[in-house]
Amino acid sequence: MLSIKDLNVSYGAVHAIHNASLEVKDGEIVSLIGANGAGKTTILHTVTGLKDAKSGTMTYDDLDLCTTDASKLIKYGICHVPEGRHIFRDMTVMENLEMGAYSKKKDKYDMGKNIEKVFERFPRLKERYKQLAGTLSGGEQQMLAMGRALMGEPKILLLDEPSMGLSPILVKEIFSIIKYCHEIGITILLVEQNAKMALSIADRAYVLETGNITISGKASDLFEDDRIRKAYLGQ
Ligand code: ATP
Repeated sequence: MLSIKDLNVSYGAVHAIHNASLEVKDGEIVSLIGANGAGKTTILHTVTGLKDAKSGTMTYDDLDLCTTDASKLIKYGICHVPEGRHIFRDMTVMENLEMGAYSKKKDKYDMGKNIEKVFERFPRLKERYKQLAGTLSGGEQQMLAMGRALMGEPKILLLDEPSMGLSPILVKEIFSIIKYCHEIGITILLVEQNAKMALSIADRAYVLETGNITISGKASDLFEDDRIRKAYLGQ
């Protein structure tokens, strides 16, 4: 289980996250929704060690995330798919996928089988396996970022705005990939501005407003919440 308690994060004088607490139990999809600048990315960056917490605790099972180096997380099954994808633009699709397995011990890891599984789920990547990643479309880059994450055989995926900048049809495709990841047993923490999609896929959700978690609960209940309908669902 991922557990964050009383987290405070600052950028100099800007207090970006205020006493935030959230949990993601094994097997859940949990969405964190909020407007631009609410602090969603800051929470993910702090969980993954890219930003230091000012105070609070963060654990994944017995692992103390406050003291774990970002580069070690994948060894513990934690994989961050950052906003903007951060694929290796000058490498091919295949090379990017291979990079996703960098933490695996060669003698215990079946690279071919994992690549085959990714290609089965992402036929577009298979068709383009020799293409330079920087020349892929936005949606294909997001698929590559997720395919590369799967190569590391994660237990939990931390997804930052996977639908950002994509057309409605590709947003649907990305969400069906998230469902697939869940079906194969991966726990998901999904950070999204697209509240409708994020709530439709999640078991539970949290709403972040200017660094404070203001609402949380079962996603199906939040869909019916008037505050959320007005502020995030445009109803
Ligand atoms: P978006 O959906 O637009 O990506 P977000 O909810 O992910 O927004 P964050 O990027 O976490 O929000 O930003 C939270 C707050 O922290 C904002 O007020 C932002 O301006 C501020 N912030 C983020 N990064 C920095 C930084 N490197 N230096 C100073 N302030 C920052």
